[in-house]
Amino acid sequence: MASVAWLSHKLSDGRIECEACSQHCKLYEGEYGICGVRKVENNELLLLTYGLAAAVNIDPIEKKPMFHFLLGTSVFSFGTVGCNFSCTFCQNADISQYPKEHHHRIVGQPLSPDDAVALALQHGCKSIAYTYNEPVVFFEYTYDTARLAHAAGLKNIYVTSGYETHKAIDTIEPYLDGMNIDIKAYSQSFYKDICGASLKPVLDTIEYAHKKGIWIETTTLLIPGLNDSDEEIRKIAAFQASIDPSMPWHISAFHPTYKMTDRPRTPESTLRRAYEIGTEAGLKYIYVGNIDDRSRESTYCPTCHKLLIERHGHIGQYVTNSLIHDNLCPYCATSIEGIWMF
Ligand code: SF4
Repeated sequence: MASVAWLSHKLSDGRIECEACSQHCKLYEGEYGICGVRKVENNELLLLTYGLAAAVNIDPIEKKPMFHFLLGTSVFSFGTVGCNFSCTFCQNADISQYPKEHHHRIVGQPLSPDDAVALALQHGCKSIAYTYNEPVVFFEYTYDTARLAHAAGLKNIYVTSGYETHKAIDTIEPYLDGMNIDIKAYSQSFYKDICGASLKPVLDTIEYAHKKGIWIETTTLLIPGLNDSDEEIRKIAAFQASIDPSMPWHISAFHPTYKMTDRPRTPESTLRRAYEIGTEAGLKYIYVGNIDDRSRESTYCPTCHKLLIERHGHIGQYVTNSLIHDNLCPYCATSIEGIWMF
């Protein structure tokens, strides 16, 4: 299914510039964007995946991961094929890289914005997540769905690599409540050589979306030997602390996948080290993921350090206990940042 990708404009030389992401593709008739799902046809930029979901699930919100957002609720999650990045360690490469690896073929099951909202409500979800592949590459589909979702009382979340242009964020901002943004590394060479992208636009998106008041959590997948040095972890933590120390940081374990099968899994000791470095940098909420570490998946009051939210994702039971009441620590009344209630 194709629809006009209206987040774009015509250039004087006949090309059309896509304004969705910082790849800034400028395309002649018949050309595809880097994401493989936006193409110029009949002098218009089209989104080829509009209304076609390649993955749909009802997930716990904590699985996005969003730990300070509608705690313990279900989120209707969907994504399409296509991505503006080409990470060699992608955990969803079967859909994200599909068009690029299958001669521009587009696949998916019909799911209109109306259907997505109706299904979310039917399953008792409190939000919709645009996830599994990069949401900005199907921007217009997310926009139409997010607008309907808000009207129906649902919140909206982007799970993203953070390559949105300011224009994309400005446009979706009225309907976008939360984002989980990857900080994949803190080096330009990592972004360029491994992901086909750049670091700076990602940092810029985090800062810009945060200023707009969108609730942001970030995720870093620590890959042995590539982005897990003390120095690099320290830079990520310092950047995040400079934006907002109360922005939750998820540090997650890598496992060999897709084109990156020559690296071992991330040792637990690396995650513990990153947790310590983040704490030293002043980050208030740090969480480990993809390993069994109940104490580091839980939330503690940044003032009195008492346990406030107990989680245990490895047994599929994310929130086992929460003591937060009216956004406050019940022991010392410190405000615990997040969007806790609808
Ligand atoms: S969304 Fe796709 S077409 Fe648009 S700028 Fe990004 S990679 Fe290019």
